[in-house]
Amino acid sequence: TIRTRIAPSPTGFLHLGTARTALFSWAFARHFGGQFVLRIEDTDVARSTQDSVEQILASMHWLGLEYDEGPIYQMQRLDRYQAVAQQLISAGKAYYCYCSPEELAAMREDQKARGEKTGYDGRWRPAPGKQLPPVPEGVKPVIRFANPEGGEVVWDDLVKGPIRIGNKEIDDLIIVRPDGVPTYNFAVVVDDWDMQISHVFRGDEHVNNTPWQINLFEALGAPLPQFGHVPIILGDDGLKLSKRRGAVSVTAYEEAGYLPEAMLNYLARLGWSHGDDEIFSREQLVAWFDGAHLTKSPAQWDAAKLEWVNGQYIKAADDARLASLVAPRLSRRGLVVPPDAPLAALCALFKDRCSTLEALADWLVMYFGPVQASDEDRAQHLGEAARDALAALAIALKDAEWTPAGISSAMKAVLAQKGLKMPQLAIPLRVLVCGRTQTPAIDQVLALFDRKILMDRLQAP
Ligand code: GLU
Repeated sequence: TIRTRIAPSPTGFLHLGTARTALFSWAFARHFGGQFVLRIEDTDVARSTQDSVEQILASMHWLGLEYDEGPIYQMQRLDRYQAVAQQLISAGKAYYCYCSPEELAAMREDQKARGEKTGYDGRWRPAPGKQLPPVPEGVKPVIRFANPEGGEVVWDDLVKGPIRIGNKEIDDLIIVRPDGVPTYNFAVVVDDWDMQISHVFRGDEHVNNTPWQINLFEALGAPLPQFGHVPIILGDDGLKLSKRRGAVSVTAYEEAGYLPEAMLNYLARLGWSHGDDEIFSREQLVAWFDGAHLTKSPAQWDAAKLEWVNGQYIKAADDARLASLVAPRLSRRGLVVPPDAPLAALCALFKDRCSTLEALADWLVMYFGPVQASDEDRAQHLGEAARDALAALAIALKDAEWTPAGISSAMKAVLAQKGLKMPQLAIPLRVLVCGRTQTPAIDQVLALFDRKILMDRLQAP
């Protein structure tokens, strides 16, 4: 059966790159009716935090990337890694190395001075007839993997195609640190083996780690998963997407008012395609995602495109759902939304103009708190004639039916009475009541106001 996993390190939020790999792994497992596992790679004890674990879980949940197993924490599996390391030592495939950091640094310098490739020179690697150095007193050793000395590591990468690398290029990897904690390359192999992972999708910054991992799988007699290394995501500026150049966490986009399904849709298109399809549902993604059509070239982050995609989803979203998503955003701005406020109708009226939930909240602010047009707009549109017309409208509205039709006929009565054209009333009205010169149809905009709030605003120009 198909089993995939995502293995974030809890040293921060869920990065967009990791979210995308998680998405591919999830969709691949779902497509083939397999399982998707979440593993927390928390062996970097100094930098891992519970807070980060929670953020990652929350982002996965928000994106709807439901996992079938996990979270599994590596730090709860130390005994298992120790046991496997001992098994490798017994089989002569791993060994203790007592080199101090100073000794390793000196080794590097010597290699550089001789113009050689730098790397561990195998001085503690046992060999028939070889005399090992004397074990130094009080030094806690690391455990190293005895990498095969000859031959090649070859795999057919699901994204990059065939990759081969000579074992001569690879030195003996540290698999367990002096404190007993496994290194990434070792823990990942033991875990992918134990968790019966069939396909590993991950960022291509790991492509250089894969040869070690393949050798470890083979040394353990473990079945080899297939690997797919997805290219990095480049920022708008062609450089690697990074925190310094804009939001890279899933949480930041959630806060900025993106919908999870839009985010999922956009992320899926970064490095994968299905013909020219731009907008597709989660179900379509799962139906289509069979591991083909993953692109080798780096994906380009396009903030404007993401915003466009989000706008498409907002327009299509159910109004009641939008209302429930926008309400907390209004509260966060210190506004009180009465329980009987027509939030869903408001969302229906304004959503076509919005590409994020924050932009939608920007529109709705005028219904729940004071607004103030720019001095320029006030000077230009609230002259004497305008004020006179607004005062007449206030009177006409007193007995009007509180519907777009009722408001519209009150407005028309004022226009007739004062000999004005529609914009001569509608624009001052917008400036005064909405704090801006442009809105959707004014009768619809006004009909959704609380009657008292609107009348107060009209009477205090
Ligand atoms: N913890 C690693 C990372 O976040 C996992 C890499 C892998 O999937 O093997 O980059």
